[in-house]
Amino acid sequence: MLDTLRRIIQEVNSAPDLEQALKIIVVRVCEAVGADVSTVYLVDSEHGQFILGATQGLRQDAVGRVMLALDQGLIGMVYEREEPVNIEDAPRHRRYVFISETGETPYHGFLGVPIIRHGKVLGVLVVRQRQVRKFDEDDEAFLVTLAAQLAGAITHASAIGDISTVLGIGGAAAALTGLRGSPGVSIGQARVVYPPANLDAIPDRPVTDTDAEVGQFQAAVAAVQDDLRAYANRMSAVLPAEELALFDALLLMLGGDSLVGETVERIRAGNWAPGALRETISAHVKVFEAMEDTYLRERASDIRDLGRRILTHIQSDRTAVEEYYNNTVLVGEDISPGQLAEVPVENLAGIVSASGTSSSHVAILAQALGIPAVMGVDDMPVGRLEGQLIIADGYRGDVFINPSELVLTEFLRLQAEESQLGEVLSEVAGQPSETPDGKTLPLYLNIGLVSVGNAEVHSEGDGVGLYRTEVPFLMQDKFPGEEQQLRIYRNALEAFAPRPVTLRTLDVGGDKMLSYFPVQEDNPFLGWRGIRISLDHPEIFLTQIRAMLRASVGLDNLTIMLPMVSTVSELDIALTLIDQALGELLEEGESVVRPPVGIMIEVPSAVFQVDAMAKRVDFFSIGTNDLTQYLLAVDRNNARVAGLYQSLHPAVLRAVRHVIDEAHKLGKPVSVCGEMAGDPAAALALMGLGVNSLSTSISNLARVKWVIRSFTFARARELVARALDFEDPRAVREMYNQVLEEGGLGGLVRAGN
Ligand code: PEP
Ligand code: MG
Repeated sequence: MLDTLRRIIQEVNSAPDLEQALKIIVVRVCEAVGADVSTVYLVDSEHGQFILGATQGLRQDAVGRVMLALDQGLIGMVYEREEPVNIEDAPRHRRYVFISETGETPYHGFLGVPIIRHGKVLGVLVVRQRQVRKFDEDDEAFLVTLAAQLAGAITHASAIGDISTVLGIGGAAAALTGLRGSPGVSIGQARVVYPPANLDAIPDRPVTDTDAEVGQFQAAVAAVQDDLRAYANRMSAVLPAEELALFDALLLMLGGDSLVGETVERIRAGNWAPGALRETISAHVKVFEAMEDTYLRERASDIRDLGRRILTHIQSDRTAVEEYYNNTVLVGEDISPGQLAEVPVENLAGIVSASGTSSSHVAILAQALGIPAVMGVDDMPVGRLEGQLIIADGYRGDVFINPSELVLTEFLRLQAEESQLGEVLSEVAGQPSETPDGKTLPLYLNIGLVSVGNAEVHSEGDGVGLYRTEVPFLMQDKFPGEEQQLRIYRNALEAFAPRPVTLRTLDVGGDKMLSYFPVQEDNPFLGWRGIRISLDHPEIFLTQIRAMLRASVGLDNLTIMLPMVSTVSELDIALTLIDQALGELLEEGESVVRPPVGIMIEVPSAVFQVDAMAKRVDFFSIGTNDLTQYLLAVDRNNARVAGLYQSLHPAVLRAVRHVIDEAHKLGKPVSVCGEMAGDPAAALALMGLGVNSLSTSISNLARVKWVIRSFTFARARELVARALDFEDPRAVREMYNQVLEEGGLGGLVRAGN
């Protein structure tokens, strides 16, 4: 059974579209469990019904035509219960309904399993038997496994509107959920980018000049043939004739009609050469991989190798500069900063990446450019998106592919509102961050790199509340030395002087890995990260502290912040090392001064030891991104649990209140530098809790300033007192949304999570 399962899954995964995948499933399922009928019913959520998506054993013309209400019959029962229903004599069951349009005779044995993805029932997979039959446990397990596989294919299909084709309904593509990478809404055409020489990552792309494309492909094939002959020649001195035959075999494959001929056919059908090549190679690889004979199975890797070689030649021949759509939404499995940089800024509307998070390089660049980005959209059929209309909602982390008219109109409206909002927000530029009742709440910036000449970044904000020093570390191929770091930090301190700049010491580990310092862990977020690495490598830490202290000479606007502190002893050791660096520099004759030193509160243990920490440091900054993840036990980078990641959770609010109250008892100020500070509703809550300053990215600064300038402290305090009494995070969010709407700041509601 396991072998059959593996083979079906392979077939389903390589099916070109949902229709084919469904057909494969129903045929193979019938064979495997010896059933008379197998059907897949798909949920058409727009119309609240099931539609027959595929069948083996019933009338084919019923596909796409037979509809059932979601609560109808045994299929409805599987849907409601969200579990398998196994009945040996279906017509005798009270929920049984006879459906004549499918050409059914009253079948007796019935086994239906739900097709579920992320907690949502997408359809029902059913097998039927003419006789009375109780399907056994193995059959049930087999169907459940296949249904899980099918769920992935259905999600992909609904993402690109394919499901409407299968169902024969005009309809909207479903939204895909990822992570918020950079705020804003973008609407444009998808340009799929892919790593070079990776055949599997090549997307489909329509071409019109098929002759030129065929010519290029054939030239690449000829070049590979030349290469292979040259290799054979070179090796003939050192390899026996039998081994040299391998090259002949490869040449034979290239000379024969199948690889080349099929690819040419696919190009003629409208796909570009790399896409056509990928399709052909993948089809051939599948055939070889399915073979029983081990020797023949191994040949699959030869075919892959040939594919890669041809691709390399095609790619090196394509010297023409890429043309981009006017509103290009860059889409890829893992978009690199280089790929982003290749798109002229005026053409770049948005970014959608199947992997990565808001702290990935490309997201950081998008934030700096003010371009909406959605990251970590792992259910996305990347290879099939070239040229498709795509909406990226960077506020919510949603992506719509080929949206319906309704969705498109709604997002166009939102975009128009956004640009109006932008005008309103520009009014607060240059204004103080001050409440109507005269209290100042300084607003600092979170930055990772300072690009010289970025006047907006330099002039807005009361200084830098969080400079993530790992960003310049991530851009290197080895640890930057003291002099190099000195230049980078000096650049930042000078750009903002005399305003304070908080440099956070290296915070790598977790999801931020340095390519030149790989760390393999099962649980990286609970592992070696932040201050833990710095203290285990005092040579790296001391170099960084020395560079920071020297960078501030004569400016004296440096403050140092330590990330991920979880125990008092870590703090003591770090402070000793800072004093050591200071002492050494003074001895060396540098006129360094001791800067204020603070810690981030981002681990629950630190929340409850603020009193002890407060005796040792000058300030606190709450890292709500990590604090939320550790308090709620929700991975901040996992789109699947993104709905549970709520920084307005009453538990988070109470933790923040505790930190502020305890720190204030010892006269130490508290800032917040997590994303929460850039969320208008949350900023209002933080203001009410008595935070001394906020630090956020430039893209959120104006929104937060608008909130500060619109609400009195007294009102903010009163609101948060109510929020702290709520039990459910959604209630907190709703209350703040309503308050923002009533205050005429409804346009800011979307910026919250
Ligand atoms: C945080 O955890 O809130 C924070 C600001 O740090 P980072 O996002 O860099 O982990
Ligand atoms: Mg953090």
